[in-house]
Amino acid sequence: MSKPKIVILGAGYGGLITSKSLEKLLKSGEADVTLINKHDYHYLTTQLHKTGVGTAADRQIALSIPELINSNKTQFLKASVSSVDIKSQVVHLEGGDTVNYDYLLIALGFEVETFGIPGIKENALEIRSFRSSKAIYHHIIKQFNLYKEDQDPSRLTFVVAGGGFTGIEMLGELADGLPKLCKEHDIPFEKIRIVAIEAAPSVIPFFPKQSIQYTMNVLEKRNIELITGTKILECTPEKVVLENNIEVPTRSLIWSCGVKGNTIVHKWGLPIVKGKIAVDSYLRVKNMNNVFSIGDCSLFLKDEKNALAPTAQVALQQAPLCAKNIVSSIRGESLKAFEYHHKGSVASIGLMAAVGKVGNFRLSGLFGAFMKQVIEARYLFNLGGPSLIIKQHVGVSREPV
Ligand code: FAD
Repeated sequence: MSKPKIVILGAGYGGLITSKSLEKLLKSGEADVTLINKHDYHYLTTQLHKTGVGTAADRQIALSIPELINSNKTQFLKASVSSVDIKSQVVHLEGGDTVNYDYLLIALGFEVETFGIPGIKENALEIRSFRSSKAIYHHIIKQFNLYKEDQDPSRLTFVVAGGGFTGIEMLGELADGLPKLCKEHDIPFEKIRIVAIEAAPSVIPFFPKQSIQYTMNVLEKRNIELITGTKILECTPEKVVLENNIEVPTRSLIWSCGVKGNTIVHKWGLPIVKGKIAVDSYLRVKNMNNVFSIGDCSLFLKDEKNALAPTAQVALQQAPLCAKNIVSSIRGESLKAFEYHHKGSVASIGLMAAVGKVGNFRLSGLFGAFMKQVIEARYLFNLGGPSLIIKQHVGVSREPV
């Protein structure tokens, strides 16, 4: 009898950790595992804001997938998935190749949600992938160079839309990174404007008052202009148009107002609820026994009405159980239901400050920033042990890009 074929689509947090878990769980020769990803690197999505401003070296954010997996146990395929034929159990890749599967995991992550606001898709910058974040960095340098030619102040105005965790992290990184970039490119830093726009009455509105106040204070101290309680109506190449006849002349709107599940999965005949793949308590796609989905492209209901938020924390907790359930399915054993345990959330505001909550403890300041580093290091440790942490951090200075 031929070995069952397990195919994993996407090597983000969910897909990569599932493949690493399968390496440990499967007996020798028990199944073939193929991991398919667009790029041959795994990027740390939770740190993409650093790539956007150049405050981290590329190799700290984008890690070579072949170096992270055991090639004797997992076959890696660098390819873009174009579709899946669920009936015939075939994955179609861009370029025409196909891969058959017996068990499939769909972990294709997220897309940026623009809410149909005119001009966002065309003109705003996205913190979506390593490439899109790298594009932010190159855009900043381009604006610096053009400013030297036309002295247009809108080229030195950087606007971040969205005062949630991602927006706050991007603002903190801009405040940290722009002084050095200005120096390197001979731009007067005092002419730089960093503007934050949030539709809700405050930034991180889902946090306790003290955390909100702390964050607002840090942003103000760092000369970030805050516009809250105001919606963005339009973005053009030269300006952002807001409610109440406010216009901010800028060539750089960084959009971090929300995400949705990867829409590529919509035409594959899967049960799609709220734009995501609906899964059962075992992380299997609803009414399917051999197709699983985890992370941002899936919808897991924590109770009758509410779904789990799209976070790395959720994807990372789902991945090991998903691997176990795939192995149990192959062995004909019973599957385990997924239970999510929220461990807290921490957002950096640059390198030296952070805000968040772990258990019942509110975190802020340097201690918060330290905890954020611990969380990131813990992930690297789980992925590749202490050697990966050392390799990632020793001898790294900010590389020219
Ligand atoms: P992803 O990590 O997005 O991985 C999807 C993978 O699929 C990618 O490798 C992609 O290249 C690949 N892919 C996509 N389409 C195709 C295709 N057609 N063919 C082949 N491959 C494809 N969460 C937290 O819990 N804590 C945080 O502090 C936090 N901070 C964040 C900061 C930022 C700036 C951002 C953007 C997000 C943050 N998040 C955070 C959310 C978190 O990053 C996501 O929830 C997490 O990445 C989801 O993991 P995933 O495996 O579902 O998808």
